[in-house]
Amino acid sequence: MHISYPHIRQKDPAIADALEQELQRQQQSLEMIASENFMSPAVMEALGSVASNKYAEGYPGRRYYGGNQFIDIIEQTAIDRAKALFGAEHANVQPLSGAPMNIAVYSAFCKPGDTILGMDLGHGGHLTHGHPITLSAKVYRFVRYTCDPETGEIDYDAVRQIALQEKPKIVLCGFSAYSRELDYSTFHAIAQEVGAVSMMDMAHIAGLVAGGVLRNPVPIMDIVTTTTHKTLRGPRGGMILCKAQFAKAIDKAVFPGLQGGPHENQIAALAVALKEAATPEFSQYAAQVVANAHVLCEELRAGGLRVLFGGTDNHLILADVVPLGLTGHEAETVLDAVGITVNKNVIPNDPRKPLDPSGIRIGTPALTTRGMKEPEMQHIGQLIIQLLRNPKDTTIQTTAKATVKRLTQQFPLY
Ligand SMILES: *Cc1c(COP(=O)(O)O)cnc(C)c1O
Repeated sequence: MHISYPHIRQKDPAIADALEQELQRQQQSLEMIASENFMSPAVMEALGSVASNKYAEGYPGRRYYGGNQFIDIIEQTAIDRAKALFGAEHANVQPLSGAPMNIAVYSAFCKPGDTILGMDLGHGGHLTHGHPITLSAKVYRFVRYTCDPETGEIDYDAVRQIALQEKPKIVLCGFSAYSRELDYSTFHAIAQEVGAVSMMDMAHIAGLVAGGVLRNPVPIMDIVTTTTHKTLRGPRGGMILCKAQFAKAIDKAVFPGLQGGPHENQIAALAVALKEAATPEFSQYAAQVVANAHVLCEELRAGGLRVLFGGTDNHLILADVVPLGLTGHEAETVLDAVGITVNKNVIPNDPRKPLDPSGIRIGTPALTTRGMKEPEMQHIGQLIIQLLRNPKDTTIQTTAKATVKRLTQQFPLY
């Protein structure tokens, strides 16, 4: 498919130029940031649609403004598809993105000063799970559990002890840099024992859950939040799935508690993405994402990187690059220079600073969307190791650039 912006080109050449350059950058690089993916043309079309023109405060059938008969169809379709895909009793599709979706849940169940138990941020937890610089951390009190950095195992007895002692209102699991499966039943049981709600933030893995390759937390946990633009391959946005008994509290917390008018163009795009995610092709995609991550992980390990958590069950790999004599920032820069995009990342108990940590995080969702499979992962893994082992070797970098060019031409984006 050829993408062009004729109307923007005519009215605003500066933005048209930047958009075309960004499209080229995406087409010509190997996107390995674990949280990124490529929407389908159908999802993109919905995102740029007239649905963005409409104010629709409220929920389908209960709006504050008139003229919402077609918007109601769009939002109700998104809700119904989300419920069917994940087996949820209730879905709220209005969160503008991941951060507000989590804040909405916290505010639904906690008063200022209340305690939330979540995964340590250095062990894979997310910024929005109470990093000290966030608003949430100023309003609520976050306490932490950790995992074994070598095996990824979570000591659930220890989690239970912390919960008994700290009496959280929410027991939260979920992550953005952790690569193993979680035991949702145990998390939920711990929450029940201490009178808390159980919450899973599956932002990173929603697509793998939808595709049936990872356990589905939705039937077990009270509340499941997810972004819609990572493995799920929808538009940038958030979504909250919950048991029926929490539906009112969640809907109230999102609107009018936190947000104003929902972005109905984003919700239309989400509806389209959810339809795509319910197909057999998407299940194949999800399985390939994980198969690719396994191959890549073994290549990186064989090449001398220290893989955290003992490997991967999902789409991402967290690796310590210090054994190769580099920092996370240096590794990111070396790879970026040849068009391989990854991000520096803290590792558990990182002795280094967040802006130049010891690790990098690498993911396979975007490359898998382009159609790459095991042979390409093996090749790219070897390339990454070669580059990281010889960060100043310009011959290796020139060869790497040529390989990146060949691969991106062989697997076009749109
Ligand atoms: C990405 C992510 C978020 C935040 O999403 P934004 O859309 O960037 O606000 C929240 N939780 C987890 C676990 C994530 O990975």
